[in-house]
Order: sequence, then structure tokens, then C-alpha cells
Amino acid sequence: MTSAALSPSKSTIEWCAKLIAHPSVSMTPNMALIDEVKAFLEELGYETLVVRDESNTKANLYASIGPAVDGGVILSGHSDVVPTEGQNWASDPYTVDIRDDKLYGRGSCDMKGFLACLLAKAHAFKNADLRVPIHLAFTYDEEVGCLGVPSLVEAINNLPNKPAMCIVGEPTEMKVITQHKGKYSARAHFTGRSGHSSLPGEGVNAVEFASEFVVFLRKLGRKCRDHGPHDNDFVPNHTTFHTGVIKGGTQLNIIPQNCFVDFEFRNLPNDDRDALKAQIFDYLDTTLIPEMRETYDDVGVEIEVISDMPGLATGDDEEVTKLVMALTGANTTGKVSFGTEAGVFSALGDIPTVVCGPGNIEQAHKPDEFIEMDQLGRCELFLDKLIGVLAK
Ligand SMILES: [Zn+2]
Repeated sequence: MTSAALSPSKSTIEWCAKLIAHPSVSMTPNMALIDEVKAFLEELGYETLVVRDESNTKANLYASIGPAVDGGVILSGHSDVVPTEGQNWASDPYTVDIRDDKLYGRGSCDMKGFLACLLAKAHAFKNADLRVPIHLAFTYDEEVGCLGVPSLVEAINNLPNKPAMCIVGEPTEMKVITQHKGKYSARAHFTGRSGHSSLPGEGVNAVEFASEFVVFLRKLGRKCRDHGPHDNDFVPNHTTFHTGVIKGGTQLNIIPQNCFVDFEFRNLPNDDRDALKAQIFDYLDTTLIPEMRETYDDVGVEIEVISDMPGLATGDDEEVTKLVMALTGANTTGKVSFGTEAGVFSALGDIPTVVCGPGNIEQAHKPDEFIEMDQLGRCELFLDKLIGVLAK
């Protein structure tokens, strides 16, 4: 499928520059970016919906054009980027720089390049005589656990018209990705009771109970590895468990009162997430916490969910899969190991979703992040073809 390199339009490059100039790092405000995009789209006649977070400093934007009917396509991307601290960049990360047919800047690949293509095509979407609507979605805080998109999908669920499908433009080099793993991550806070270390029986050792929990998670991971389910299209080919941080105790001669454990599992999309979570909670509720409470009942474990991202498993026979394959000329679909918002659209919104966007995930999150100009050109071509299919 290799052919002559394509060039993006001037408008796409301009939008890359505008979007990248907003340092919309996850967890920081993205309103300036959202306001700019909203004003531009409203001017063109798009219907917009803004779904704000509680702090009123971040928002998702949903902008629709075309007839107000069921069906149509959501084209979605996140507006946040990862930080640049500690990274050595050859050029200013928030100023677009084009060198050797590559467009550099934080978010160029992940995923403001895709958003720029959408905005460059906003006139064309509007001017097409669409049979069904096109919805543009701009979300926040994807990079820190898909925190923004659930409220957007909920809002979409409450709209009178239901979109037929969604394409999330994460960098896949315009390949059609129909499956990715899910992820659940949380912090388990262990509260014990302190005392002198010479009398361990008088206290409740939070570090020791937390350690038992870590070992339990490790056993769950081993069980998944050895007994499956397995899917050899994923590396590793099973659901995984992992503990990343454990912190507790103050000094050796004190029974530690507090300890926390940051853990996650990444499940195959067809593995039962609820059952995996239930195993963890059952263990805490029926084994560990009762043991901690043998003497005192003001001790225990609290789970603070960090992120809860469903996996993606869209069938090859879904309309969205067939459409995106036809538009890209792909004859296969793929699976990736990174999570995206596609799982949320699919699971929470019941909207069949695939991932397909410009750029290579290899370049994401790194210093000197870039997107090849050819990839932007290909994405524009894809959007032009999409218009052709959705127009009367
Ligand atoms: Zn991304």
C-alpha cells in the first residue's frame, strides 16, 4: 500500500500550530483550547455541547454538523498531552517546527495532529450534503486514565440522537485497530494501629497486611498467565497484574500504622473485568480485613480507584470496522497493547468503535515528538473519503 508521500493542507499545519501552542498537559486546564475550537466551530454552524469537570477548568467538547438524526460518525481525540519536564527537546515543544517532512511539537503525534486534520476539514464537513451527522469530540485527561471521556459519553447517551459509530484517531499509522486491553488501577490504603515493635501483637501492622495483598495480586497474575484466557495477538498473551508503588511505615521500632499500594491489572478485552475486580474485593472483604480486625475495628483497607478503562473488542463484522477498512484500503484489522478512549465509547456508550489515526505511537510521549507530514496527508485523504460516504 506504499505510495507517493502525501502533503497535508496549509490549514492542517496551521491548526497543528494553534493546538500545540496550548500547553494542555493532563490535569491542567484545557479551557483555552476548548474555547478556541468551540468558537471556530460555532461560527461555522456546528451545534456544540460542552461537558465540564467539577473544577470548571477542563471540559470535553462535542460539536455536530449535518442533519439532527440518528446515525453518523463520532470522530474523537483527546486534547491533553503528556508533560515535557525532564525531556531534552531540540526545539520548543509548544512551537511547531517542521524539519525533514516531520512536524515536531508536544502532542503532534498524540494526538493534536489528528485534531488538526478534523478542524482543517470542518468547512468540508459543513459544506457536504450529509445524510447523517458528523460529530467531533475533544476530550480531556485521557493520558491520566481516560478521566474526561466518561462524562462526555454519558452526555451523548442523553442526547435525542444516537451516533452509529465512533473512530478514535490515536496514532495507528491509519491502520484499523479493533481490540486493545483494558486497565484497572487503584491505590489500596491500609490503615493499621501503631505501637512499639517489641509488642507486634498489640498493634496492626499495615505494611505486613499490604504485603500479603501484593502477594495475592502476584498470585492472580500467575493464575492468568498459566490458566488464561490467552490471546496470542497480545504481548503478553494474558491479563497481567502489577504492583508499582508500596509505601508505609516510619521507622523500624514502630508498628506501621499506614501503608498504601498502587496496583493495576490490564485485562484481555474478552476477559471478565468484573470477575477480576470481584476476586480482589472478595479477598479483602472476606480474608484480609477480617484478619486485620481481629482486635480493633478502626483498621482496614480503602480502595481509591485511579482509572477504570474498559478494553476494546469490536467485531470485524461491525459496520464501523468495514467502513474504516474500506476507507483506508486495509484488508486486516489489528490489536494493540495500549489503552484508548475507544473502550469507553464502546462499553459505556454502546457505540461500536475502532481506533484509526495518523502517526506512530513510537513517537508519542517522547522528547522531539513528531508526526510525519505524509501521515497528516493520509488522514486528510481518509476524511475526504469519509465525507464521500456520508454525503447524499
Ligand atoms: Zn493519545
